[in-house]
Amino acid sequence: MTSYTILNPASERPVTTVPGTSVEETDAAITRADAAQREWRAVSPGDRARLLRAFAAEVDAHIEELAQLEVANSGHPVGAARWEAGQIRDVLQYYAAAPERLLGKQIPVAGGLNVTFAEPLGVVGLIVPWNFPMPILSWGLAPALAAGNAVVAKPAEMTPLTAMRIGELALQAGLPEHVFQVLPGKGSVVGQRLVDHPTVRKIVFTGSTEVGQQIMTGCAKHVKRLTLELGGKSANIIFADSDIERAAATAPYAVFDNAGQDCCARSRILVQRSVLDKFMELLEPAVKGVRVGDPTLGDTEMGPLISASHRASVAKYVPDDAPVAFRGSAPEGPGYWFAPTVLAPIGSDAPAYTEEVFGPVVTVTPFEDEAEAIEIANDTPYGLSGSIWTGNVGRALRVARAVETGNLSVNSHSSVRYWTPFGGFKQSGLGRELGPDALDAFTEVKNVFIATDN
Ligand code: NDP
Repeated sequence: MTSYTILNPASERPVTTVPGTSVEETDAAITRADAAQREWRAVSPGDRARLLRAFAAEVDAHIEELAQLEVANSGHPVGAARWEAGQIRDVLQYYAAAPERLLGKQIPVAGGLNVTFAEPLGVVGLIVPWNFPMPILSWGLAPALAAGNAVVAKPAEMTPLTAMRIGELALQAGLPEHVFQVLPGKGSVVGQRLVDHPTVRKIVFTGSTEVGQQIMTGCAKHVKRLTLELGGKSANIIFADSDIERAAATAPYAVFDNAGQDCCARSRILVQRSVLDKFMELLEPAVKGVRVGDPTLGDTEMGPLISASHRASVAKYVPDDAPVAFRGSAPEGPGYWFAPTVLAPIGSDAPAYTEEVFGPVVTVTPFEDEAEAIEIANDTPYGLSGSIWTGNVGRALRVARAVETGNLSVNSHSSVRYWTPFGGFKQSGLGRELGPDALDAFTEVKNVFIATDN
């Protein structure tokens, strides 16, 4: 087992070293998970629910510890990190109600009755990205466990610390050994093995569209179930009849949250031309007012990027001749800082306009009317998120139906809620996570005919 060093992205100092899991160790973990799952599925629904509630309570008792770990590992502002740790608790609590409600159907047929059962899949592999290590882990983990599956999770190589601690908390809460295992290490080693191993019956992957495509190919060999949450290039559409002040005040938070390292970032602001000048005047102080800095401070709103190489890749989208309208601030000195940046006017072939930047860079583009706004919003291979600002309810619904994307907000910059479905259109993904139907993705329907005429 080789180990590697985790760096604090705000200070560039080492935090700790972590063991990198090998292919052989991954295989051994999958074998243990397979054995544990056979017992876990046999635990009565009431007891499975009780254990998930105990797991949620254990997380709740360690919110501050988890938040501080995330601050050190990922550079998330501590307020955001506390919210993220709380989300693990809430998602576990929400799906703790599911085992006792995992019902089948009775279907009367000639000569008998069909009954259906929702059977767990077996071992589920979760491949988690570095941008939201805690929430994204919980979105797959909680419904998979609730349905009676065992979970082997691979956190991102750079951000494994909270997932590893959550694995320990699961055991402390009384979950049987090996029902939930966390394997830190490389995607090309551990992640790839989860995809290739025939005993793993489903992969839940969040990350880049490119790696998602490779994983889809790998899963095809085994007809392995797959949920994909991939990239985004979402639009924040602002009509002239909206509350422009609110739209401008919240636009920075729709894209610069988590330093723009967010698949739901609304990184293309589309503004009706008649209010463009007014909107830009209002946007400038809002962007400059985003508090970027030390993530350990309670009032910090934006921390650093995750790594030096990621900062270099974000910086490529803002070359020296980029049309920078204005920028916010960022600290000098150590840390992978990048100031919030607004690009306008931007050409429709500029990489910052067409590609997912995954950093605090937003473009502003004017449109003339509703039809053009929809056309521009849909002119992307992605379709994950989006926002619409208008005072006209009919327009809000028309545009919401016309924009090809999985998650929209109207007159709000908010995005994911764990009790509503989440997922993408087009190249943003496959399948839905969260919401009341999430267990459908972690179960197979078994249909049994019972003869009544003998
Ligand atoms: P990746 O898609 O490379 O990685 C996501 C996860 O997949 C990580 O755990 C990674 O491991 C793992 N992985 C990598 N290669 C394989 C493989 N061959 N088989 C199985 N698992 C694998 O995303 P990055 O973190 O490199 O980010 C690159 C870009 O992806 C971002 O700039 C952004 O555009 C997008 N992205 C989108 C996210 C979203 O929420 N939709 C989240 C993160 C990224 P390892 O950590 O070792 O690389």
